[in-house]
Amino acid sequence: MQAKKFDLVVLGAGSAGIGAAVAAARNGARVALVEAGTALGGELLTGMTIDGAINAHGEPIVGGVLDDLVAACKALGGFVERLSDWRLIRYIAYDPEIMKIAVAQTVYEAGVHVMLYTFADEVVRDGDRVQGVVVRNKTGRTLLMADAFVDASGDGDLCALAGCPMLTPDAGEKLQPVSMMFRMAGVETEPLLRFVCEHPEYVAVGESDAIRGGRTDQQIVEEIRRQGHPCVFFRGDAPLLASAIARGEMFPTALVMIQPTSAARKEVCINATRVTLRDPLHPEELSSAFRVLVGQVRQCADFLRGNVPGFEAATLSGLAPRVGIRETRRILGDYVLTTEDVLESRKQPNGIAKGCHHVDIHQDGTGQIRIPVADGGSYDIPFESLLPQGVSNVAVAGRCLSATREAHGSARVMGSCMAMGQAAGTAAALACRQNAPADLRAVGVQALRARLIEQGAVLEGTR
Ligand SMILES: Cc1cc2nc3c(=O)[nH]c(=O)nc-3n(C[C@H](O)[C@H](O)[C@H](O)COP(=O)(O)OP(=O)(O)OC[C@H]3O[C@@H](n4cnc5c(N)ncnc54)[C@H](O)[C@@H]3O)c2cc1C
Repeated sequence: MQAKKFDLVVLGAGSAGIGAAVAAARNGARVALVEAGTALGGELLTGMTIDGAINAHGEPIVGGVLDDLVAACKALGGFVERLSDWRLIRYIAYDPEIMKIAVAQTVYEAGVHVMLYTFADEVVRDGDRVQGVVVRNKTGRTLLMADAFVDASGDGDLCALAGCPMLTPDAGEKLQPVSMMFRMAGVETEPLLRFVCEHPEYVAVGESDAIRGGRTDQQIVEEIRRQGHPCVFFRGDAPLLASAIARGEMFPTALVMIQPTSAARKEVCINATRVTLRDPLHPEELSSAFRVLVGQVRQCADFLRGNVPGFEAATLSGLAPRVGIRETRRILGDYVLTTEDVLESRKQPNGIAKGCHHVDIHQDGTGQIRIPVADGGSYDIPFESLLPQGVSNVAVAGRCLSATREAHGSARVMGSCMAMGQAAGTAAALACRQNAPADLRAVGVQALRARLIEQGAVLEGTR
């Protein structure tokens, strides 16, 4: 088998992997970024908004690589807007086609060695050290040796292959459903927002006091109209959608979430479909789900065209590159981010990234748990929740972090994932620079924090 040597191998090129690879390269590491898919970006390419980057008060809580991506989208003339959902959060809406280019530019310009179409399926481990990852692609198998590794695979594949301990759901607990995000173009915003103003009872609004700010539902829908973008969340338990579900014209769902992706194409991204799987890692289950989800996409598009003003002439314009998976493995790290850390917006001395998204756990049918973070603020994610037990030269970033199910339900969003990636990549680069062998636990957290702040991360001074 062929072997190659790098300072750092990052597995997975979603929000977390991009943050990690770019940050590590900017800190002098020779980085290989391994991605099974055909483009860089992971879930960033679906059209969903970047949540967890701006708290309910409008304060940015994630900076650095994310700021660069937003600037690159703007420079490319792409749609990027910081908006409020007038429900629970503020987010960054953007055109995923432009983001695809922005991500590629940013990653290649940082000097990262990119390996697309390449799947990692084995780990070489010696004691507490991972020495290499075996990857497979059409040219065969290659051993990628490195001093340090970041597992940003979403599913914690590298850690699982290395035999690291995992947190498992309680008996009988169902994992969050998988979904197929899709886009529709030719949506007229003004009739849609007028409809919402006439029927505030159909939409989810003001679920957090920090966003509601004492307003009535009617005042909030007027704010949505003033904002001027199609940011609308139709409730599954409100008459419009509930009656369609009862008639069998829509599948049961908690919300039909509509968010803008391009003003020029009058395009929105829609998050509504859902199928609960026993094991979202299983390709057979995912393949069956794909068929059901595509049917749900068609049904939801028909529902919107037939029932919602502004959608009459809208056309389906794109499906996500793959079935979207919300929840699989979480590692057991040196620290498990707790539900209270999140809900009480706790600050921690070893915080290396922040989160602010509500605890957001999708359930079967019309169920969804949505609990806002206290006072619309932000919480800190400590470095130790990125450090898997039993290995010294591996950090994780993204949705496989060490967290309770509820804390994961908040920290899994893309703003937090990118911030975790930036921290893990920077830490790995610092570890590689220190005396060999690289040991992530030997990196001083205060030195790491200082370096992150120098490179644009937001770690202090927000609520
Ligand atoms: C339907 C849905 C809607 C969502 N809505 C939002 C939203 O509106 N806003 C928001 O911020 N978040 C949202 N989320 C959550 C968010 O998208 C994810 O939790 C987040 O993108 C995870 O980032 P990540 O980098 O950890 O993983 P990913 O973005 O999943 O990236 C992991 C990458 O690793 C690659 N990979 C995995 N295993 C291997 C392997 N063995 N070898 C090589 N490559 C591998 C994958 O191909 C993938 O590209 C949503 C999630 C879903 C599924």
